Amino acid sequence: MSSALPRVEALREELRRHEHLYYVLDRPELSDADYDRLFRELQALEAAHPELVTPDSPTMRVGGKPREGVATAAHSSPMLSLDNALNQGELREFDRRVRELLKDDSYAYVAELKLDGLSLAARYEHGEFVRAITRGDGLTGEDVTENARTIRTLPLRVTSPYASFEVRGEVILTRRAFEQINLERERDGLPLYVNPRNSAAGSLRLLDPAVTAKRRLEFLPYFLLVDGQPVFASHAASLEAMQAMGFKVNPLRQLCADVDALWEFFTSWEDRRDALPYEIDGVVAKVDSVAQQSLLGWTAKAPRWAIALKYQARAAETVVEDIGVQVGRTGALTPVAFLRPVAVGGVTVSRATLHNEDEITRLGLEIGDTVIVERSGDVIPKVVRVEQQAADRRPFRMPTACPVCGEPVVRAEGEVAARCVNSSCPARLKESLLHFARRSVMDLDGVGEALVDQLVERKYVQSLADFYTLTEEQLLTLERMGEKSARKVLGNIRNSKQKPLPRLLNGLGIPFVGERTAQILAETFGSVTALAEAEEETLQQAEEVGPKVAKSIYTFFRVPRNQELVQRLHDAGLTWTHTVKVRERAPLAGLTFVLTGTLPTLSREQAKEMIEAAGGKVTSSVSKKTNYIVAGEEAGSKLEKARALGLKILAQDDLERLLRGEETNQ
Ligand SMILES: [Zn+2]
Repeated sequence: MSSALPRVEALREELRRHEHLYYVLDRPELSDADYDRLFRELQALEAAHPELVTPDSPTMRVGGKPREGVATAAHSSPMLSLDNALNQGELREFDRRVRELLKDDSYAYVAELKLDGLSLAARYEHGEFVRAITRGDGLTGEDVTENARTIRTLPLRVTSPYASFEVRGEVILTRRAFEQINLERERDGLPLYVNPRNSAAGSLRLLDPAVTAKRRLEFLPYFLLVDGQPVFASHAASLEAMQAMGFKVNPLRQLCADVDALWEFFTSWEDRRDALPYEIDGVVAKVDSVAQQSLLGWTAKAPRWAIALKYQARAAETVVEDIGVQVGRTGALTPVAFLRPVAVGGVTVSRATLHNEDEITRLGLEIGDTVIVERSGDVIPKVVRVEQQAADRRPFRMPTACPVCGEPVVRAEGEVAARCVNSSCPARLKESLLHFARRSVMDLDGVGEALVDQLVERKYVQSLADFYTLTEEQLLTLERMGEKSARKVLGNIRNSKQKPLPRLLNGLGIPFVGERTAQILAETFGSVTALAEAEEETLQQAEEVGPKVAKSIYTFFRVPRNQELVQRLHDAGLTWTHTVKVRERAPLAGLTFVLTGTLPTLSREQAKEMIEAAGGKVTSSVSKKTNYIVAGEEAGSKLEKARALGLKILAQDDLERLLRGEETNQ
């Protein structure tokens, strides 16, 4: 047995405890840096001792090998859906049947929020998470085990008295995580997800679990089954048991003594649901007693002891009177439907996003058609389908010139968005100013659309740096701007100079650099100057920065207009530096490897993971910057090139020695 085993086990135990505190209880005890340190120590130990790696190790959350394709698996017992009640009458009818069948015995309901996500069954054997299957058709679903493993609120190991058991629940994305994903997709020119549910489903079913790992999915269980059966006397008790086992059970639930209390719970959440961090589409009510549940039994398609009470769909029918385009910060042209105004769930809606040309084609939409629009939460309303085609309908054509600046519009190959490529297009400028002013970026409270429009029209602000030279006199010439608000705006602009560097980096609007990447860049490079001077190769050394992002950053700082912007922001006195996060000194930090040929026992993918976990980098082509080439059987031209360049050549066991921190004789 390896001498590293006790330490590996202690680290796993410790990391699991902190994962639970952080993700499930939302009560972290360790700083991110300390957590990171433990995590990296475990990663390095596992890299050096691959025989100790187990599937329930917290390191497995970062996503293993991509799936070869889609595999299906059968459910242990059918995963049926529930009957719906759409109004109070239908709910009372359901309750009347329950009362009749229970012959006037007393009973209670457990009411839970109905999360709008994707149902998942997760199986555990001897306390270890072993398999996850989507609902599918209820009998068989898709095997998404490796992707589910990356969900932080799904424990990989639990203490339980059962040899095996299953939990069933919902996989969701919070609205915030959803918006973040769409922001990134917009930057990458990918089609946007329509809503959090659709995005959660897409993320869970990705072929590459490493991508799923970045999506911040959550799992909230609502059933505990042993051999396909409930094991507690009441549903409420089984929810508590799952909570005690370390699952994130939604605390927003209530035991209701009768149907009136149930209806009260349902209506009380209807108005408050937009305040929740995730979307719900109703409330699920279950008869609490498991004995009574079995008395009530099942119909062919649903249990008689449970019902889904659905909120009214916030959808309405209306006519698309015209389709126009909006120009975004990156120059992307977004088609927008102008609607005959219609009330949707209490709000009058007169426009809806159509995302891009492909979406219009998918909907089969033309101007004049009657459509269904839907809104959910605070997300922009969208057209979900064409209800009736108009006799005099006419197709939408994407303009060939930008509607704002008149410059040509380009749709790059492989991109869904058509873009205005004029970098000084006023529409793009306005959007980039609004992004900079956002609360999560530089927090320029008071700088909204109306103000930005005027600032740009008057040419008071033609670049981000112009915010810092605005004067009270200039502001006072604007509409609806009194002395008091002018001073407030200027005060907020002044205060923004103190904002930490990651916010400024996010605010610069470098393509592909959002909140998270900005944070990593600030922690790695420590100042705007260091970042601006970094070569592409150096940029790629930063965590999560690949060739595309590195190129984008490098290019940004080489454009004269941007260099001028950066200089002016510096002179204005904005926060320029940030504490560099000292990464654990990993054995291979700073070293670049190229892999070639077939290694005796490691696959190329495994070798790459081990090198990366130990801080090294693997590139595909040999250059003078390569430190080592790891060569196996049938190594080809790369090995020859490495020899020609006089590079160090390693066999698998040399690599293993390096990983253990030992010297090699090469
Ligand atoms: Zn333009």
